[in-house]
Amino acid sequence: MTEHYEVIVVGGGMVGAATACALALGGVNVALLERFNPERHWPPEPIDIRVSALTKASQNILEMLGAWPGMAQRGVCAYRDMRVWDARADGELHFDCADTAFSELGHLVENKVTVAALWDVLDTLPTAKCITPAKVVDMQLNDNNRQLRLEDGRILEADLVIAADGRDSALRQMAGIEVTGWEYRQDGLVATVSTEKSHQFTAWQRFLEEGPLAFLPLNNGQCSIVWTLSSETAKHHLALDDQDFLQALEHASGGILGKMLEVGPRAAFPLRFQYANRYIDQRFALCGDAAHAMHPLAGQGVNAGLLDAAAIAELVIQTKQEKRPLSSSRFLRRYERWRKGDNLMMMSSMDVLNKTYSMTAEPLVGLRSAGMNLINNLAPVKAYFNHYAMGLRDDLPKLANKRICW
Ligand SMILES: Cc1cc2nc3c(=O)[nH]c(=O)nc-3n(C[C@H](O)[C@H](O)[C@H](O)COP(=O)(O)OP(=O)(O)OC[C@H]3O[C@@H](n4cnc5c(N)ncnc54)[C@H](O)[C@@H]3O)c2cc1C
Repeated sequence: MTEHYEVIVVGGGMVGAATACALALGGVNVALLERFNPERHWPPEPIDIRVSALTKASQNILEMLGAWPGMAQRGVCAYRDMRVWDARADGELHFDCADTAFSELGHLVENKVTVAALWDVLDTLPTAKCITPAKVVDMQLNDNNRQLRLEDGRILEADLVIAADGRDSALRQMAGIEVTGWEYRQDGLVATVSTEKSHQFTAWQRFLEEGPLAFLPLNNGQCSIVWTLSSETAKHHLALDDQDFLQALEHASGGILGKMLEVGPRAAFPLRFQYANRYIDQRFALCGDAAHAMHPLAGQGVNAGLLDAAAIAELVIQTKQEKRPLSSSRFLRRYERWRKGDNLMMMSSMDVLNKTYSMTAEPLVGLRSAGMNLINNLAPVKAYFNHYAMGLRDDLPKLANKRICW
């Protein structure tokens, strides 16, 4: 017999799991489909190389969903300062939580920690069903529903399908939604490293010619690095033996954390600027990387995705509470208007920053450094950037402001 749900969320990563969680807390009958069994238990070491900087707004959402305690128990690392500087000139920016109303600027969390904590919450919610392994291979639009076919032949139906199946979203293609964008021809090389000097619970970012190098603090004293390099250099650096890699990293760091002592496994992710031309179709919506992929230089990708999750859940729950059908396109159009502009603004800012810092002509380098120093010394402007980076802006979904939406 075909199973029917009010909403099916496809993709059980951070964004899909958060969407399903919010919907189920709002009493929506929801199925979460994920092609792989997510990791739920693991030894504390080594640390996952996929780590994200989560903003205050994301923390609020994850707290409201009940996932934050499970994350804190597995390990989150608060960072209190952020230092950004230009390797080619004297421009620098310093953000300090002492200038805000908070005791930290954000948290560094392994991606698998966020996913596992959300899946733990989902297990406790009576209107949520997690189906895994479940790879969606086909989607049809019928008069009364959307129908999904899984690789193993199972058929599921829903009033609404939400795709959070990542940057190369198959569901987006099945819905006939095109994307706009380009490859950066840069990779984000990630690894966990031990350094001679303490990270001081500070996120460090040095802008180099090929892209920024970030050292993000972890609770065990190590740093997670995100090193943006041209794809050729990234390939070369992946192939280096550990000692040569550490030497190259130490040189690139400008010695800010002293000697680079140890490095774990390394991986590189090709970077892309990409947005879906539409976020919605009949009985269908995109969330997270399926809707937008952005440069990781300010660590905003999943933060934007969690805002999508909170926004679509809020609108679905409201529609249900008002006893209107989930087939209605009115709330979907509202979702698209709400999130697309905000995401495009964020992605474009990242893109402009990336381009600005890859300029090498001397007058431009001088100009950008002067701009950086000017912002650093203008308290109100700096406070605006800081708040924006912490995800605290106008028109946030209720969950991001710590208000319930059910
Ligand atoms: C180097 C790097 C550093 C980053 N750092 C940060 C950071 O500090 N802060 C930040 O906010 N963001 C950061 N990001 C971005 C962040 O990693 C992504 O935005 C985030 O992982 C997207 O989450 P998602 O749930 O939308 O997609 P994904 O994590 O891609 O999850 C998609 C899920 O869908 C499943 N799936 C796919 N197809 C199917 C199918 N057909 N059927 C069923 N399931 C399917 C997949 O298995 C997967 O679990 C970084 C990105 C990179 C590359």
